[in-house]
Amino acid sequence: MSLIVVGSMAFDAIETPFGKSDKIVGGAATYIAWSASNFTRPIKQISVVGGDFPEDELAQLQARGVQLEGVQVKKDKKSFFWSGRYHMDMNTRDTLETQLNVLGEFEPVVPDSYQGADILMLGNLSPAVQLSVIEQMQKRPKLVVLDTMNFWMETALPDLEKVLKQVDVLLVNDSEARQLTAQYSLVRAAKEIYKMGPRFVVIKKGEHGALLFHKDHVFFAPALPLEDVFDPTGAGDTFAGGFVGHLAASKDFTFDGMKSAIIVGSAIASFSVEKFGTTRLKELNRKEIDDRIERFVELVNFDISLVNK
Ligand code: AMP
Repeated sequence: MSLIVVGSMAFDAIETPFGKSDKIVGGAATYIAWSASNFTRPIKQISVVGGDFPEDELAQLQARGVQLEGVQVKKDKKSFFWSGRYHMDMNTRDTLETQLNVLGEFEPVVPDSYQGADILMLGNLSPAVQLSVIEQMQKRPKLVVLDTMNFWMETALPDLEKVLKQVDVLLVNDSEARQLTAQYSLVRAAKEIYKMGPRFVVIKKGEHGALLFHKDHVFFAPALPLEDVFDPTGAGDTFAGGFVGHLAASKDFTFDGMKSAIIVGSAIASFSVEKFGTTRLKELNRKEIDDRIERFVELVNFDISLVNK
């Protein structure tokens, strides 16, 4: 099944209580593509970068089966830049700076060769751009998945509400779900989000795992308890990449299919945080991912009869 990925490709500068990175390559669509390409190829990427974006990074993505026809390169402009500082819990962070640069005036063009894609993954960027991509699709993809963040809730809520009407699955973290719905209970928040459009809601809770909501059903995928977490940046996007990558491979868009997809998303996100930026994702192989999925199965497996005796 073919997959389109839309999102930022960027430079990030990250501070954690344990270290600080220089300007490194990041961006939602970068993480999603590295992650999803473990499960499905080709990936049809839509994004925009400036002339400062390293050509080598683009070449590495291409070698990974990521098609770049939909990635615009604005030679005399600067790439999107984001910097953030993590708190001691490594779960919460403050955005220090967002420079939209090329993203501010991005008008995406869906290449003809991308038409007919089965899954559209709308990664984090302006809701107006996300909407424009949906509108350019001649045939509605079988599944439209959207990720967003507080920045867009604060600066572009009306556009976000418009795009949500067209979406099957929303991925957000817990604080964003609460911000979007003004509900503290995540169960209530999910119900409010159904009214906005999505039939499935995935609420990510950082090191506390992720919840999948659909109608009255709820499923929980834990996050693997890790000894070392160096950089949580991109964990949400890596999760999204594993989620849609697995769905593209399994072709199962039912609640049960999505249960497996959030386990795969959690498993691959647990690698991403082990090193700064995309470093860990680049060296990852399928065997390591499969072994980690096994560890997830062990993590949640227990014998109920022991409890009843
Ligand atoms: P995550 O940690 O999964 O939420 O994603 C972090 C990535 O999102 C970083 O690599 C940033 O470049 C990117 N990012 C941060 N803010 C924005 C924004 N407002 N729009 C698009 N991408 C963003």
